[in-house]
Amino acid sequence: MSLKKIFASSVIAAGIVAGAQSGAAMAAEQTYVTIGTGGQTGVYYVVGQSICRLVNRGAKEHNIKCTAPSTGGSVANLNAIRDGGQDMGVAQSDWQFHAYNGTSKFADKGANEELRAVFSVHPEPFTVVARSDSGIKSFDDLKGKRVNVGNPGSGQRGTMEVLMDAKGWSMDDFKLASELKASEQSQALCDNKVDAIVYTVGHPNGSIKEATTSCDAKLITVSGAAVDALIGDNAYYAPATIPGGMYNGSDADTTTFGVGATFVSSTKADPEAIYQVVKAVFDNFDRFKRLHPAFANLDPAKMIKNNLSAPLHDGAVRYYKERGWL
Ligand code: GLU
Repeated sequence: MSLKKIFASSVIAAGIVAGAQSGAAMAAEQTYVTIGTGGQTGVYYVVGQSICRLVNRGAKEHNIKCTAPSTGGSVANLNAIRDGGQDMGVAQSDWQFHAYNGTSKFADKGANEELRAVFSVHPEPFTVVARSDSGIKSFDDLKGKRVNVGNPGSGQRGTMEVLMDAKGWSMDDFKLASELKASEQSQALCDNKVDAIVYTVGHPNGSIKEATTSCDAKLITVSGAAVDALIGDNAYYAPATIPGGMYNGSDADTTTFGVGATFVSSTKADPEAIYQVVKAVFDNFDRFKRLHPAFANLDPAKMIKNNLSAPLHDGAVRYYKERGWL
């Protein structure tokens, strides 16, 4: 997205703090909330758009207007939530953990104790796709190749760096390390500008479909001692499988590791607004699940518990208690 758009969304985001005091009492006043997502061809964008669609359907009752712009991804969203530029956002479980605890990429800024979890969403396998003519058969074959490591601010860029660290690799181990955004990388792969792309993302999704239908490309296994150690040492990583047959060129299951997508906010966001957002999703849950195939297996009991490191937002707790889930 353009800088102008980011600026515009941070300006309207201020409304959530100033305007939402008590929904009914301020009936005439419109409250604006923003959800940071990811690239337009990913699943975060659909998460944000889907939540906003359900929230905006009830705007007559609660006067909340929701927007979900495209952003750089997890790390960008967590930073924008901390700075007050976004009220809510989607973020990988590993980066939620690090933002809340002030570790890894967030060591310089320190722990964001205001960060709050709202619920978790779909699983996100760490996904590597390579051109068939590149000769790449496993993650280790990426050495010496042209690899899109992802834009800074994206979750996949961060998780790629974690895996590279675990293997003792640096960017110099690639012939080329490009930083294209998720929405640009499938075309770059098929234009033969890079040999492989990485994306931490829910499946099936349009981006990987594009990469595997526009040219001869396949999913690559990500396994071995370094991956096992990451999974063993960190609760936010888990073994993951991308089912065979989901994409052209990958008939067998693909083994990798993964994280969970999570929906987060901050104590800066008004509990009434978060309550209304959560209510819009779970009061219309069947409708929500139908908005993307990656949501098909979502289960509220797991969504309010799994993959969350920050405490639940007060507005979310209020709704979950009303439903008897807490
Ligand atoms: N996991 C990616 C990220 O954190 C985004 C995936 C998506 O947009 O669906 O940047």
